[in-house]
Amino acid sequence: MEKISEAFRKQREHHPEIKRTTAEERIEKIRRLRDAMLEKAPQLREAIYADYRKSPAEIDLTEIFPVVAEANHAIRNLKKWMRSSRVSTPKTLLGTSSEIRYEPKGVVLVIGPWNYPFSLVINPLISAIAAGNCVAIKPSELTANTSAFLKGFLEKLFDPREVAVFEGDATVTTRLLAEPFDHIFFTGSPRVGKIVMEAAAKHLSSVTLELGGKSPAILDSSADLRKAADRLVVGKFINAGQTCVAPDYVYVPASLGQAFLGELKSSIARHYGETEDARKKSPDLCRVINGRNFERIKKLVDESVARGARVVVGGVFDAAERYIAPTVLSDVKLDTPIMSEEIFGPVLPVLAYDDLSQVYRHLRSQGAEKPLALYIFSENARTTEDILANTTAGGTCVNQAILHLANPNLPFGGTGYSGVGNYHGLFGFKAFSHERAVLRQGRFDAFKMLNAPYTPKVVKMIERVTRFLA
Ligand code: NAD
Repeated sequence: MEKISEAFRKQREHHPEIKRTTAEERIEKIRRLRDAMLEKAPQLREAIYADYRKSPAEIDLTEIFPVVAEANHAIRNLKKWMRSSRVSTPKTLLGTSSEIRYEPKGVVLVIGPWNYPFSLVINPLISAIAAGNCVAIKPSELTANTSAFLKGFLEKLFDPREVAVFEGDATVTTRLLAEPFDHIFFTGSPRVGKIVMEAAAKHLSSVTLELGGKSPAILDSSADLRKAADRLVVGKFINAGQTCVAPDYVYVPASLGQAFLGELKSSIARHYGETEDARKKSPDLCRVINGRNFERIKKLVDESVARGARVVVGGVFDAAERYIAPTVLSDVKLDTPIMSEEIFGPVLPVLAYDDLSQVYRHLRSQGAEKPLALYIFSENARTTEDILANTTAGGTCVNQAILHLANPNLPFGGTGYSGVGNYHGLFGFKAFSHERAVLRQGRFDAFKMLNAPYTPKVVKMIERVTRFLA
């Protein structure tokens, strides 16, 4: 506790210096961070592989590449983002000028998850540095090797008065949350998101909550089944389904159900191997993070099968290796646990529908549990619009899955149950900034005419101005 309080106090004291840094100085730090990561890529790959046997290619694609993209985008645009922006002046404020200035929030806390243990800590860190903050980082304890890597890596790059890493489990997070941070950026489950928000309320700290939930995919009758299958298979089985925006389940028109299941089967074979045996040996399928999650996912499948679901592909479980084969289920009942809990594993339920209104009713029945993502597969512009208009989600891809998070010009975040706020690119810079309103009074002061004492002449003037405004 002492250590955390002391580190927090030091960052607070140091922050005025960081606040005054120029765009060039911040860009230099981001560049150094990016280059050091590329230099240490072999050690990073080793750490993540040791945590859950993720393939080096997938580590490059999902951990290193997104950080390079985010860093480069900030390097290119930070000068523009930091510039204060002038806003227009209403006639009633004649004689004044106004601008918005971006100030750092101050000392901020970044709490990371285990599923992309590096990029989901480093990308918020890039935004926080770009905005001029001091940062405390708490990586996930479930990916202990990556957590240790992060600590060593960041300690070499930064003065702890600017960036400090605190390793450990929930007890460490609880201690950190007791400090009055100016902003808390949390990525993780909705359950812990609520704990974070409650702790933040004690200090009125602002929060960004990047949470999860069940992200549906909807195919309509015009969808290109093969392309949809390929994109859903990649979106689902990358990182063994342990992706916040992974398509959780798929809705498909009943008349196309069998054909689509066939496409999913061949797509799995094309991507990960022809047979169950080949897939188990594939270096491209990582493992489930721990025994608890392995048992949780297995139970979801077992319960569904006991209630009549059919295993179309997969259904192979190896507890010793924490391996779950890419699995597709059909005939899943809506009232089974797999349809109410985020699956967060390599299992894809396929649901049949006759009419889109059924799909909308089902999605609305989830009330506040709005999804982080919703995917639409359709070749029909009108149906696409209809689905967009009748649903909501943090983000959506049309005829694609998960890729919306790769465009830094798009905000990334949830809505309701799937999160509060957003980040990436300018949105990340803003998440860690305070928009300070500055009005400057010039020589001519029109407002003076409306000041007390409210003589009949002033009252008339106020009336006239009000009428003029109406
Ligand atoms: P988690 O909520 O279990 O853990 C996240 C962090 O919170 C960890 O650092 C952990 O140490 C800490 N923590 C755990 N219990 C705590 C407690 N009681 N008090 C205080 N801190 C606590 O999440 P996870 O299992 O690491 O990640 C999986 C979840 O994260 C999924 O729901 C997934 O959808 C979501 N997620 C969301 C995004 C996004 O960008 N929106 C990205 C990745 C993961």
